[in-house]
Parts: sequence; structure tokens; C-alpha cells
Amino acid sequence: MNIRLLGTGAADGIPGFFGDDMVSRYARANGGKDVRSRTAAIIDDGLKIDLPPETIVQLQQAGLDARDWTGLVFTHSDDDHIAVNELQYALYPFTELDHLPYTIYANAVVSREILDRYPDWPLEIMETKSFESFQHGRYLITPIRATHIEDEDCHNLIVQADGKTLLYATDTGIWPEETFEFLKRYPLDLLIIECSDGFVESTYKGHLNIEGVLSVISRLRATGVLTASSKVVTTHHSHHGNARHCDLEQTLQPHGIEPGFDGMLIEI
Ligand SMILES: [Zn+2]
Repeated sequence: MNIRLLGTGAADGIPGFFGDDMVSRYARANGGKDVRSRTAAIIDDGLKIDLPPETIVQLQQAGLDARDWTGLVFTHSDDDHIAVNELQYALYPFTELDHLPYTIYANAVVSREILDRYPDWPLEIMETKSFESFQHGRYLITPIRATHIEDEDCHNLIVQADGKTLLYATDTGIWPEETFEFLKRYPLDLLIIECSDGFVESTYKGHLNIEGVLSVISRLRATGVLTASSKVVTTHHSHHGNARHCDLEQTLQPHGIEPGFDGMLIEI
């Protein structure tokens, strides 16, 4: 199984859409791994996770074809994760298709948003709930509860196939106890975890800074969810976190954590 990080930036990307901070200025001047589009990923180039507004550019840059998608799994309803208008381009009159060629999996809020936007489409959406596994082809997918939006069942995703297990944990603060408990049953080969706030302490508890990431990881190591052979990679970085890619490398690598970047391909 592999996962490709198509985007690793937070809500307004890096350089920030209108950002005039150190990280945005550095990214504009230097490019490379400091340029981050909105967070999204794809597993084995066919199982898509989230649909940010720049999905088409991410596919073009990675040389991928949306017609290879077999499933599209949404994590939650924030605008950087669902650009609902982009769904239309799969169907007539943009193509000859009269139904989506892939399955959509989404929580109740995202499902409602899609159904409201496309009331006349023959849509089949499978509603996802925290801690309820579902099978998609050879993948067993288990959403777990994130700490992100108070009145929405926001998900991080455990994906299992070929005897391997990964957890894609974007947009999550410190998990509730039930999530930590549940995770004890899932030793991970790979953890992809958000690090939105970088060096900055935020009053909003729906994201993690570096300190938060380190505390989550030390707890997962103590409970055997992460072992010496588990890979840990970060995503969903905000320019507000005051951390360039080189700063993230310097701070995270000594802890066995690799900062993610747009286009990163991870094999497990
Ligand atoms: Zn986000």
C-alpha cells in the first residue's frame, strides 16, 4: 500500500493566500517543499481522501487521472477538504457519464452538503460514522473521532490492506479518550498526523502544534500503537505556525518524525 500526500497545507495554503508572514514570504522566495496546497491524499493512486479546491492542479502535478478513483472518502466539512462544486466535472456535460464512477463516503454533514448541492443526481453516498468500519475493495477503512468541530463527527481514517495499517489524522486536536482507547487495537505501520500550528500555541483546540504532536506520539509509543518500525509523517501545516520546512525537519527528525511535503509518496 502507498499513500501520496497531494497537499500538506492548512486552510489557506502556504504561502498563505493573503499571508504576509515569515513563512509565506520565505515560501514565495524559495519555493520547493515550503509551498503547500490544501491537505489531501490518495492511496494507491485510486482511493482519494478529501477534495480541496486545487484538486485538479494536484492531480496534474502528480501525473494522476481522476478516472482511476474507485472511492472518495471525506474527513469533515471544512472548505479546504470539500470543494463541493468540483464534483460536477465527473459528469455530463463535462463527460459522457450520468453517474459518478466512484463511491463517496462521508459523514452526515458532508453527505447533506453534497445532496443539497446536487438534488437531481442519482447519488449513492455511504454515510460514515466514527468507530464503524467499512470495506472498500481490498481496503478496510475505520473512521475514528477527531477533536475538530464541536457538533460534527469529524474523522481521522484508519486504512488497512495487504497486512498493513495506516492512520491518516488530519484536522484533529488531542483525541478524546475513547479514540486513544480504540486505537490500542490498531498497531500502525504509518501515522500521518497534522501539525497545523507549528511553534505557536493556539487557543483553538481543534488543531495540533509541535508540542501537541509530540505528546500524542509519545502516548501512542507508550501504548504500542507506534513501534520502532512505525513511520510518522506530518501534514496540514499552516503559515501561522511560524515553521518553515527546514525548521520542521530540525525539530521533528530527532523524534523520528518526518515533515510531509506536497507530492510525498510513502510506501508501507
Ligand atoms: Zn483543514
